[in-house]
Amino acid sequence: MCEIIAIANQKGGVGKTTTAVNLAASLAVAEKKVLLIDADPQANATTSLGIHRNDIEFNIYHVLIGTRRLSQIIQKTSIPTLFLAPSNIGLVGIEKEFYNKKRNGRELILRKKVEEVMDQYDYIIIDSPPALGPLTINALGAAHSVIIPIQCEFFALEGLAQLLNTIKLLRQTINPTLAIKGFLPTMYSAQNNLSRQVFADLAQHFNGQLFKDIEDSSFIVVPRSIKLAESPSFGKPIILYDIRSTGNTAYQSLARAILEGA
Ligand code: ATP
Ligand code: MG
Repeated sequence: MCEIIAIANQKGGVGKTTTAVNLAASLAVAEKKVLLIDADPQANATTSLGIHRNDIEFNIYHVLIGTRRLSQIIQKTSIPTLFLAPSNIGLVGIEKEFYNKKRNGRELILRKKVEEVMDQYDYIIIDSPPALGPLTINALGAAHSVIIPIQCEFFALEGLAQLLNTIKLLRQTINPTLAIKGFLPTMYSAQNNLSRQVFADLAQHFNGQLFKDIEDSSFIVVPRSIKLAESPSFGKPIILYDIRSTGNTAYQSLARAILEGA
């Protein structure tokens, strides 16, 4: 059975792409067959895997407008069981296309495309843009569950109520079984008082919805890590760039929790 997980938070720069890429890579290294779908016009997930967006003729935009099938745009990556459906800046044009369609069904276009390939994968991870627009709604419409990365910084919870409300509305309409898989604190820095305070607030608010390490039951927190920030510029997930980094440990631990059914 394929599990489809969207990574979403309309707040920008909170670690969505870093989480999507490194969770996908960690699951793939655990010998799961994984498809990462880049549903963001910024195409950061595409670039992070060393695929140059301009070298690719067809991308997720062409799938969403129906001129290519999802299976036709899927690219191999340096991890044999990790595949990528790339994006490109041209994807911004999709918003106009979506609004031209009749309301009925336009939130479920990505789901229909994903259904064509899902029996070939163990996991499909969808990276979404920093907006609660049609692309994020399509990602949430296609997913079984959502992981919400939250940056351990001031304003961390800003916009979260709106996101949770959107998820609630989607459950009442297009995706009744959409689950919140968990909240993932990111860019945590133990030396920083504010970071510690934000994390303490998260642990209090969302106790039951933070991921826990399967070995010691501690909360899974992604530390601020220079290696994590550097790895996209080398076109590599952290597990191939620096296996010993603390960032890798956190994403490995997240993948293990998910493999165990978190
Ligand atoms: P956007 O909303 O623009 O799509 P995003 O939510 O996808 O952003 P990322 O691109 O994953 O966020 O991260 C934003 C920046 O922070 C990137 O430069 C990334 O490399 C860096 N970054 C992400 N996670 C960490 C971390 N744990 N430690 C250090 N840097 C990080
Ligand atoms: Mg991103």
